[in-house]
Amino acid sequence: MLRIRFHGRGGQGMKTASRMLGSAFFIEGFEVQDAPRYGAERRGAPIFAYVRADTAPIHERGVIPYPDLALVADDTLVGVPAAGVLQGLDAHAVLALSTTEDADTWRARLNTDAQIVILPPFSAEDPAQRPYVGALLAGAAACLVGLKANSIIQAIAQELDGHGTDVIAANQQRAHAAYEAMAAHAALTHPRAEDSTPPDTHWVTLKHEDADTSAPTIHGAATSVQIKTGLWRTLRPVVDLEHCNRCNWVCGSFCPDGAISADKDGYPVIDLDHCKGCMICVAQCPPHAIHAVPEKEPEKGAAS
Ligand code: SF4
Ligand code: SF4
Repeated sequence: MLRIRFHGRGGQGMKTASRMLGSAFFIEGFEVQDAPRYGAERRGAPIFAYVRADTAPIHERGVIPYPDLALVADDTLVGVPAAGVLQGLDAHAVLALSTTEDADTWRARLNTDAQIVILPPFSAEDPAQRPYVGALLAGAAACLVGLKANSIIQAIAQELDGHGTDVIAANQQRAHAAYEAMAAHAALTHPRAEDSTPPDTHWVTLKHEDADTSAPTIHGAATSVQIKTGLWRTLRPVVDLEHCNRCNWVCGSFCPDGAISADKDGYPVIDLDHCKGCMICVAQCPPHAIHAVPEKEPEKGAAS
Protein backbone atom coordinates (compact mmCIF):
# COMPACT_ATOMS: atom_id res chain seq x y z
CA MET A 1 0.00 0.00 0.00
CA LEU A 2 1.17 3.52 -0.75
CA ARG A 3 0.53 6.08 1.98
CA ILE A 4 0.77 9.77 1.15
CA ARG A 5 0.31 12.81 3.39
CA PHE A 6 -0.25 16.37 2.19
CA HIS A 7 0.59 19.20 4.59
CA GLY A 8 -0.37 22.80 4.02
CA ARG A 9 -2.29 25.70 5.43
CA GLY A 10 -6.02 26.28 5.19
CA GLY A 11 -6.72 27.82 1.78
CA GLN A 12 -3.80 26.17 -0.03
CA GLY A 13 -5.91 23.37 -1.51
CA MET A 14 -4.47 20.32 0.26
CA LYS A 15 -7.86 18.62 0.41
CA THR A 16 -8.24 19.24 -3.32
CA ALA A 17 -4.72 17.90 -3.95
CA SER A 18 -5.54 14.67 -2.13
CA ARG A 19 -8.78 14.31 -4.12
CA MET A 20 -6.93 14.84 -7.40
CA LEU A 21 -4.22 12.32 -6.53
CA GLY A 22 -6.76 9.80 -5.23
CA SER A 23 -8.74 10.05 -8.47
CA ALA A 24 -5.57 9.59 -10.52
CA PHE A 25 -4.82 6.37 -8.63
CA PHE A 26 -8.42 5.25 -9.18
CA ILE A 27 -8.12 5.90 -12.92
CA GLU A 28 -5.12 3.54 -12.97
CA GLY A 29 -7.14 0.79 -11.29
CA PHE A 30 -6.07 1.16 -7.66
CA GLU A 31 -8.26 0.86 -4.59
CA VAL A 32 -8.15 4.33 -3.06
CA GLN A 33 -8.92 6.14 0.16
CA ASP A 34 -8.50 9.88 0.60
CA ALA A 35 -9.50 12.07 3.50
CA PRO A 36 -8.67 15.46 4.94
CA ARG A 37 -8.04 16.02 8.61
CA TYR A 38 -8.56 19.52 9.91
CA GLY A 39 -7.10 21.07 12.99
CA ALA A 40 -9.35 24.04 12.39
CA GLU A 41 -11.23 25.01 9.27
CA ARG A 42 -9.63 28.41 8.82
CA ARG A 43 -7.29 30.03 6.35
CA GLY A 44 -3.73 29.68 7.58
CA ALA A 45 -4.33 26.86 10.05
CA PRO A 46 -2.28 23.65 9.58
CA ILE A 47 -4.21 21.22 7.38
CA PHE A 48 -3.54 17.55 6.68
CA ALA A 49 -4.90 15.35 3.92
CA TYR A 50 -4.21 11.68 3.29
CA VAL A 51 -4.25 9.28 0.37
CA ARG A 52 -3.93 5.51 0.56
CA ALA A 53 -3.70 3.47 -2.65
CA ASP A 54 -3.37 -0.27 -3.03
CA THR A 55 -4.08 -3.06 -5.50
CA ALA A 56 -6.04 -4.87 -2.75
CA PRO A 57 -8.98 -3.58 -0.69
CA ILE A 58 -7.91 -1.08 1.97
CA HIS A 59 -9.00 -1.83 5.52
CA GLU A 60 -6.69 0.59 7.27
CA ARG A 61 -8.32 3.79 8.55
CA GLY A 62 -7.37 7.01 10.25
CA VAL A 63 -4.25 9.12 10.14
CA ILE A 64 -1.10 7.90 8.41
CA PRO A 65 1.63 7.77 11.05
CA TYR A 66 4.32 6.35 8.72
CA PRO A 67 3.95 7.85 5.24
CA ASP A 68 5.85 6.74 2.16
CA LEU A 69 5.58 10.30 0.87
CA ALA A 70 4.90 13.59 2.67
CA LEU A 71 4.36 16.71 0.58
CA VAL A 72 4.60 20.10 2.25
CA ALA A 73 3.18 23.23 0.59
CA ASP A 74 4.59 25.65 3.17
CA ASP A 75 8.01 25.09 4.73
CA THR A 76 7.13 27.25 7.76
CA LEU A 77 4.97 24.31 8.90
CA VAL A 78 7.98 22.06 9.41
CA GLY A 79 8.77 23.80 12.70
CA VAL A 80 5.17 23.82 13.93
CA PRO A 81 4.65 20.78 16.19
CA ALA A 82 0.87 20.86 15.69
CA ALA A 83 1.37 20.42 11.94
CA GLY A 84 3.04 17.02 12.45
CA VAL A 85 5.04 17.26 9.22
CA LEU A 86 7.93 15.14 10.50
CA GLN A 87 5.72 12.47 12.06
CA GLY A 88 7.02 9.01 11.11
CA LEU A 89 9.53 10.14 8.47
CA ASP A 90 12.29 7.53 8.39
CA ALA A 91 14.86 6.48 5.77
CA HIS A 92 12.12 4.86 3.68
CA ALA A 93 10.06 8.03 3.39
CA VAL A 94 10.27 10.83 0.86
CA LEU A 95 9.78 14.39 2.09
CA ALA A 96 8.85 16.76 -0.75
CA LEU A 97 9.13 20.37 0.33
CA SER A 98 8.13 23.66 -1.19
CA THR A 99 10.99 25.89 -0.13
CA THR A 100 13.56 28.35 -1.42
CA GLU A 101 16.39 26.37 0.21
CA ASP A 102 18.08 23.25 -1.14
CA ALA A 103 17.73 19.64 -0.02
CA ASP A 104 21.17 19.53 1.65
CA THR A 105 20.28 22.50 3.83
CA TRP A 106 17.07 20.81 4.97
CA ARG A 107 18.80 17.45 5.50
CA ALA A 108 21.32 19.10 7.81
CA ARG A 109 18.68 21.19 9.54
CA LEU A 110 16.32 18.31 10.23
CA ASN A 111 18.98 15.66 10.86
CA THR A 112 16.66 13.22 9.11
CA ASP A 113 17.24 10.02 7.16
CA ALA A 114 14.22 10.72 4.93
CA GLN A 115 14.91 11.36 1.27
CA ILE A 116 14.32 15.06 0.64
CA VAL A 117 13.25 16.47 -2.70
CA ILE A 118 12.39 20.07 -3.51
CA LEU A 119 9.06 20.79 -5.17
CA PRO A 120 8.85 23.08 -8.21
CA PRO A 121 8.99 26.72 -7.10
CA PHE A 122 5.81 28.64 -6.46
CA SER A 123 4.79 31.41 -4.14
CA ALA A 124 1.70 30.76 -2.03
CA GLU A 125 1.82 34.47 -1.19
CA ASP A 126 1.43 35.40 -4.88
CA PRO A 127 -2.33 35.79 -5.53
CA ALA A 128 -1.80 34.66 -9.13
CA GLN A 129 -0.28 31.33 -8.06
CA ARG A 130 -2.27 30.70 -4.88
CA PRO A 131 -5.29 28.98 -6.53
CA TYR A 132 -3.06 26.36 -8.14
CA VAL A 133 -1.00 25.12 -5.20
CA GLY A 134 -3.18 22.02 -4.83
CA ALA A 135 -2.88 21.09 -8.51
CA LEU A 136 0.86 21.69 -8.41
CA LEU A 137 1.35 19.36 -5.44
CA ALA A 138 -0.95 16.76 -6.96
CA GLY A 139 1.06 16.82 -10.22
CA ALA A 140 4.35 16.50 -8.36
CA ALA A 141 2.97 13.69 -6.19
CA ALA A 142 1.71 11.78 -9.24
CA CYS A 143 5.24 11.78 -10.67
CA LEU A 144 6.85 10.83 -7.34
CA VAL A 145 4.57 7.79 -6.94
CA GLY A 146 4.96 6.66 -10.56
CA LEU A 147 1.50 7.45 -11.95
CA LYS A 148 1.10 8.49 -15.58
CA ALA A 149 0.88 12.20 -16.34
CA ASN A 150 -2.35 11.66 -18.22
CA SER A 151 -3.99 10.15 -15.13
CA ILE A 152 -3.55 13.30 -13.05
CA ILE A 153 -4.72 15.42 -15.99
CA GLN A 154 -7.90 13.33 -16.26
CA ALA A 155 -8.35 13.36 -12.49
CA ILE A 156 -8.22 17.16 -12.41
CA ALA A 157 -10.93 17.35 -15.07
CA GLN A 158 -13.11 15.07 -12.92
CA GLU A 159 -12.45 16.81 -9.63
CA LEU A 160 -12.97 20.33 -10.99
CA ASP A 161 -15.99 19.42 -13.12
CA GLY A 162 -18.37 22.37 -12.97
CA HIS A 163 -15.66 24.99 -12.46
CA GLY A 164 -15.43 25.79 -16.18
CA THR A 165 -12.97 24.83 -18.89
CA ASP A 166 -10.59 27.74 -18.21
CA VAL A 167 -10.17 26.80 -14.55
CA ILE A 168 -9.68 23.12 -15.39
CA ALA A 169 -7.12 23.92 -18.10
CA ALA A 170 -5.16 26.28 -15.82
CA ASN A 171 -4.98 23.62 -13.08
CA GLN A 172 -4.04 20.90 -15.56
CA GLN A 173 -1.28 23.08 -16.97
CA ARG A 174 0.23 23.67 -13.48
CA ALA A 175 -0.06 19.99 -12.56
CA HIS A 176 1.56 18.90 -15.79
CA ALA A 177 4.42 21.39 -15.39
CA ALA A 178 5.00 20.13 -11.83
CA TYR A 179 4.90 16.51 -13.03
CA GLU A 180 7.55 17.28 -15.67
CA ALA A 181 9.68 19.23 -13.21
CA MET A 182 9.87 16.18 -10.91
CA ALA A 183 10.99 13.83 -13.71
CA ALA A 184 14.38 13.26 -12.08
CA HIS A 185 12.56 11.76 -9.07
CA ALA A 186 9.89 9.79 -10.97
CA ALA A 187 8.61 6.77 -9.03
CA LEU A 188 10.99 7.55 -6.14
CA THR A 189 8.27 6.60 -3.65
CA HIS A 190 7.66 2.92 -2.92
CA PRO A 191 5.23 1.11 -0.63
CA ARG A 192 6.61 0.13 2.74
CA ALA A 193 7.04 -3.64 3.15
CA GLU A 194 3.83 -4.72 4.89
CA ASP A 195 5.67 -6.99 7.30
CA SER A 196 8.17 -4.31 8.26
CA THR A 197 8.01 -3.25 11.88
CA PRO A 198 7.10 0.43 12.13
CA PRO A 199 10.16 2.45 13.03
CA ASP A 200 10.54 3.57 16.59
CA THR A 201 9.24 7.14 16.43
CA HIS A 202 7.24 9.16 18.88
CA TRP A 203 3.89 7.80 17.71
CA VAL A 204 1.82 6.74 20.68
CA THR A 205 -1.24 4.53 20.47
CA LEU A 206 -3.72 5.72 23.09
CA LYS A 207 -6.14 3.29 24.64
CA HIS A 208 -9.79 4.27 24.52
CA GLU A 209 -10.80 6.54 27.39
CA ASP A 210 -13.76 8.73 28.22
CA ALA A 211 -13.28 12.30 27.04
CA ASP A 212 -13.35 13.45 30.67
CA THR A 213 -10.21 11.43 31.28
CA SER A 214 -8.30 11.70 28.01
CA ALA A 215 -9.00 15.35 27.22
CA PRO A 216 -9.87 17.19 30.41
CA THR A 217 -8.82 20.53 28.90
CA ILE A 218 -11.38 20.11 26.13
CA HIS A 219 -14.12 19.04 28.48
CA GLY A 220 -13.43 21.74 31.05
CA ALA A 221 -14.84 25.27 30.86
CA ALA A 222 -12.85 28.32 29.74
CA THR A 223 -9.83 26.36 28.54
CA SER A 224 -9.44 27.82 25.03
CA VAL A 225 -6.59 29.95 26.33
CA GLN A 226 -4.52 26.77 26.39
CA ILE A 227 -4.70 26.47 22.59
CA LYS A 228 -2.10 28.74 21.02
CA THR A 229 -3.88 29.81 17.84
CA GLY A 230 -0.94 32.08 17.04
CA LEU A 231 0.48 29.06 15.18
CA TRP A 232 -2.18 29.57 12.53
CA ARG A 233 -0.96 33.00 11.43
CA THR A 234 0.59 33.68 8.08
CA LEU A 235 0.23 37.44 8.63
CA ARG A 236 0.93 39.29 11.88
CA PRO A 237 -0.91 42.48 12.93
CA VAL A 238 1.54 45.21 13.96
CA VAL A 239 0.32 48.45 15.56
CA ASP A 240 1.87 51.69 14.33
CA LEU A 241 1.82 53.58 17.61
CA GLU A 242 2.45 56.93 15.90
CA HIS A 243 -0.86 56.67 14.08
CA CYS A 244 -2.89 54.91 16.76
CA ASN A 245 -5.22 57.47 18.36
CA ARG A 246 -5.90 55.20 21.33
CA CYS A 247 -9.59 55.02 20.59
CA ASN A 248 -9.21 52.10 22.94
CA TRP A 249 -12.11 50.00 21.77
CA VAL A 250 -12.37 49.43 18.03
CA CYS A 251 -9.61 46.87 17.46
CA GLY A 252 -10.11 45.21 20.84
CA SER A 253 -13.86 44.97 20.37
CA PHE A 254 -13.70 43.52 16.89
CA CYS A 255 -10.98 40.96 17.62
CA PRO A 256 -12.91 37.66 17.67
CA ASP A 257 -10.34 36.07 19.95
CA GLY A 258 -10.08 38.75 22.61
CA ALA A 259 -6.38 38.97 21.80
CA ILE A 260 -6.11 42.75 22.11
CA SER A 261 -5.91 44.53 25.44
CA ALA A 262 -4.78 48.04 26.34
CA ASP A 263 -1.62 48.99 28.21
CA LYS A 264 -1.62 51.56 30.98
CA ASP A 265 -1.34 54.39 28.44
CA GLY A 266 -4.28 53.14 26.40
CA TYR A 267 -2.26 51.69 23.52
CA PRO A 268 -3.36 48.30 22.16
CA VAL A 269 -1.26 45.26 23.03
CA ILE A 270 -1.68 42.14 20.90
CA ASP A 271 -1.34 38.71 22.48
CA LEU A 272 0.53 36.94 19.68
CA ASP A 273 0.13 33.54 21.34
CA HIS A 274 -3.61 33.78 20.70
CA CYS A 275 -3.91 36.14 17.71
CA LYS A 276 -4.87 33.80 14.86
CA GLY A 277 -4.10 36.31 12.11
CA CYS A 278 -7.61 36.99 10.79
CA MET A 279 -6.69 40.65 10.07
CA ILE A 280 -10.10 41.91 11.22
CA CYS A 281 -8.36 44.49 13.41
CA VAL A 282 -6.39 45.68 10.36
CA ALA A 283 -9.62 46.21 8.45
CA GLN A 284 -11.47 47.90 11.32
CA CYS A 285 -8.93 50.36 12.75
CA PRO A 286 -10.29 53.84 11.78
CA PRO A 287 -6.88 55.55 11.22
CA HIS A 288 -5.39 52.41 9.60
CA ALA A 289 -2.82 52.16 12.34
CA ILE A 290 -2.54 48.34 12.24
CA HIS A 291 -0.52 46.77 9.44
CA ALA A 292 -0.41 43.19 8.18
CA VAL A 293 3.17 41.93 8.15
CA PRO A 294 4.11 38.52 6.68
CA GLU A 295 4.88 36.11 9.48
CA LYS A 296 8.20 35.25 7.84
CA GLU A 297 9.46 38.79 8.52
CA PRO A 298 11.09 38.97 11.95
CA GLU A 299 9.57 41.22 14.56
CA LYS A 300 11.39 44.51 15.01
CA GLY A 301 14.05 44.07 17.63
CA ALA A 302 13.81 40.27 17.46
CA ALA A 303 16.99 38.23 16.97
CA SER A 304 17.22 36.98 13.37
S1 SF4 B 1 -8.54 50.65 16.56
FE1 SF4 B 1 -6.68 51.59 15.73
S2 SF4 B 1 -6.68 53.61 16.64
FE2 SF4 B 1 -8.08 52.38 17.86
S3 SF4 B 1 -6.77 51.58 19.55
FE3 SF4 B 1 -6.81 50.04 17.89
S4 SF4 B 1 -4.97 50.53 16.71
FE4 SF4 B 1 -5.40 52.32 17.95
S1 SF4 C 1 -5.50 39.60 13.56
FE1 SF4 C 1 -6.28 41.16 14.95
S2 SF4 C 1 -8.48 40.74 15.12
FE2 SF4 C 1 -7.52 38.88 14.26
S3 SF4 C 1 -7.03 37.59 16.02
FE3 SF4 C 1 -5.23 38.84 15.65
S4 SF4 C 1 -5.44 40.61 16.98
FE4 SF4 C 1 -7.47 39.65 16.82
